Amino acid sequence: MSNPSLLILPGDGIGPEVMAEVTKIIDWYGTKGGLKFDVSTDLVGGCAYDKHGVPLADETMAKAQEVDAVLLGAVGGPKYDNLDFSVKPERGLLRLRKEMDLYANLRPAQCFDALADFSSLKKDVVAGLDIMIVRELTSGVYFGEPRGIFEEGNERVGINTQRYTESEIDRVARSAFELARKRNNKVCSMEKANVMESGILWREVVQKVHDEDYPDVELTHMYADAGAMQLTRWPKQFDVIVTDNLFGDLLSDLAAMLTGSLGMLPSASLGAPMANGRPKALYEPVHGSAPDIAGQGKANPIACILSFAMALRYSFDQGAEADRLEKAVEKVLADGLRTADLLGEEGVQPVSTSEMGDAIVAALDASL
Ligand code: NAD
Repeated sequence: MSNPSLLILPGDGIGPEVMAEVTKIIDWYGTKGGLKFDVSTDLVGGCAYDKHGVPLADETMAKAQEVDAVLLGAVGGPKYDNLDFSVKPERGLLRLRKEMDLYANLRPAQCFDALADFSSLKKDVVAGLDIMIVRELTSGVYFGEPRGIFEEGNERVGINTQRYTESEIDRVARSAFELARKRNNKVCSMEKANVMESGILWREVVQKVHDEDYPDVELTHMYADAGAMQLTRWPKQFDVIVTDNLFGDLLSDLAAMLTGSLGMLPSASLGAPMANGRPKALYEPVHGSAPDIAGQGKANPIACILSFAMALRYSFDQGAEADRLEKAVEKVLADGLRTADLLGEEGVQPVSTSEMGDAIVAALDASL
């Protein structure tokens, strides 16, 4: 059987720096961890514009459609700020998401004990937290028609339309239930069925998918406003949360910040299963290209490394190896290693991007 394939798109700014550390981890799996990947690398964002005049070349898009998973660093930077909207670096990322039809956006909120003090909540509320928000990404109020600002009588009216089809709800619900089966087997679905018809339909369809195909997963429903309160009151009650595009936008940012630094936050965007059963998938850190620290060896590579851990778990069914990699990250943090973004304690000297990567590889070695 051929090795699983990965397309790596480091991008701009700190993207290549953090991706270099992920490449060390991939190499470690190839030489010591018993998992070989066929890796190809290409351009996205500003660097693709510099070479091809577009932020994502057609050949790169075609490669992304063929591989088992895409791993992206970050795109953008001041050099490209004045480009025409159609060729801005972010358009490369948007093209990938759209053409791969990545409808389920996964944003974990995981709190490593060593960093529990970084949260704005009390330590016992967040220590050990591990939840996953699944946000519907391709429909809902950000896309529904009619939309616009119209004249009505003697004033203007702004209109957006919350619209969901049964099939759109069905497929993202399935993503959430599948994920729950690989985690703690619990899904909480959030909407506003008390005041929105789209919420009533959302609740009905999620319940139907559950009853027909995932009765083994524990399902609860919650109004999204109550969900926001519960997320700050006692987030550890949740495992997987599935919600629409708008509520997911808010709730995933809220949940992410329970755990501290932007340099720690991974994400995945998943689409329909391919012929081999694996979902179309793009893994990327939540952060951007951080031009203020690019090229200085200051970037925290952990968000990108944890994005690769998500790929191991959700694209390659290597849950035990994802655990191993997350534990390696946990160990270096527990040992006190900090990149500059994680400094807080007095007297701690920051380590560089590559020192952090090397320490995680050493922790992987120690785990064998
Ligand atoms: P940013 O995430 O790049 O940076 C925000 C702040 O967080 C900066 O101070 C930065 O130094 C810090 N930071 C981010 N990642 C870090 C890491 N791994 N380690 C340590 N510190 C880190 O957001 P921004 O400054 O608003 O945007 C910069 C550029 O990135 C813009 O061109 C923007 O369009 C682009 N961007 C890209 C993506 C993406 O590729 N997915 C996402 C957001 C922003």
